[in-house]
Amino acid sequence: MKAIQISQHGGPEVLVPAEVPDPQPTDGQLLVAVEYAGVNYIDTYYREGTYHSQLPFIPGQEGCGRVIVDPADEIAPGTFVAWESAPGSYAEKVCVDRTRLVAVPQSIPHDVAASMLLQGITAHYLLHGVRETQAGDTILLTAGAGGVGLLLTQLAVAAGATVFSVVSTDEKEELAYAAGATEVFRYSEGLAESVRRRCGGRGVDVVYDGVGKETFQESLEAVRPRGLVCLFGAASGPVEPFDPQLLNKHGSIFLTRPSIGAYTASEDEFRMRAQAVVRAVEDGTLNIRVHEPYALEDARQAHEDLQARKTAGSIVLKVT
Ligand code: NDP
Repeated sequence: MKAIQISQHGGPEVLVPAEVPDPQPTDGQLLVAVEYAGVNYIDTYYREGTYHSQLPFIPGQEGCGRVIVDPADEIAPGTFVAWESAPGSYAEKVCVDRTRLVAVPQSIPHDVAASMLLQGITAHYLLHGVRETQAGDTILLTAGAGGVGLLLTQLAVAAGATVFSVVSTDEKEELAYAAGATEVFRYSEGLAESVRRRCGGRGVDVVYDGVGKETFQESLEAVRPRGLVCLFGAASGPVEPFDPQLLNKHGSIFLTRPSIGAYTASEDEFRMRAQAVVRAVEDGTLNIRVHEPYALEDARQAHEDLQARKTAGSIVLKVT
């Protein structure tokens, strides 16, 4: 089958199209023909070697497509499914754990189906798992027009929160407003100060920071006393080690660094969040903006654009 293979860690140039043997499902897995593969920032961490993966490997975690075979004979061949947490999704075929997939309702376009689960479940657990969002909460969100950013904004607004979003361009600003942000800011040294002014000097209840290194200090300064800083990613690089005393200095604030794995550890929790996302897509609460699909063999270009901050919303590779 055709796939993207990584034989050494590095920049986008290590994403090389290759002909490889078909994968073989092991216990609890189904073999699926991939139509679209989702592209996520986490794929760049595996590519670079920041997250561990045995070389050589096929990148990608999520996608959608038709079941080829279920060795347990529970799911019929041809059933259209979407999944996350299936390493090797940048390929014509992938093995997916039956505990990590959902059937896709007919009303959901396939490029949306391929990119809804990883980012949608992330937005869901950040807002309803890490902390239950309350009507009236104020939220500061970095990378507000990214894949997770646009979904988190829509779900937070649906829960009655006010979202202050941070983006880098006019186009992204427009998208963040369209998703429901109350005010959109640019990255700058005075970001925290501007946000605090907007909240009557108090600071926000929660900061969701997926940018990391370049925004972390402003995140600590933007949160109210006893508020929460939720550092959920490192698009600009990992945060430097720091003195926990800083949390005291900023008003006894809380800090967490969560992962989707910990918030979908059981099949029940995965299903609860996945179903909430699918329902929100179906009823229009979530409008997923998918960037013009890249061909599978253009995975390199997709990663270059993602890391050069040229993309907004979700990204997919068209595989078949
Ligand atoms: P995005 O579509 O949000 O892309 C990343 C965005 O980060 C860019 O578009 C850019 O937006 C912003 N950014 C700011 N500074 C930089 C920089 N120096 N280099 C590159 N990008 C920068 O990606 P995803 O939606 O896939 O992921 C968003 C974040 O969420 C990532 O950090 C990812 O690791 C994290 N994540 C965490 C999960 C978890 O469970 N912890 C699960 C899923 C994602 P702009 O131009 O507006 O600054």
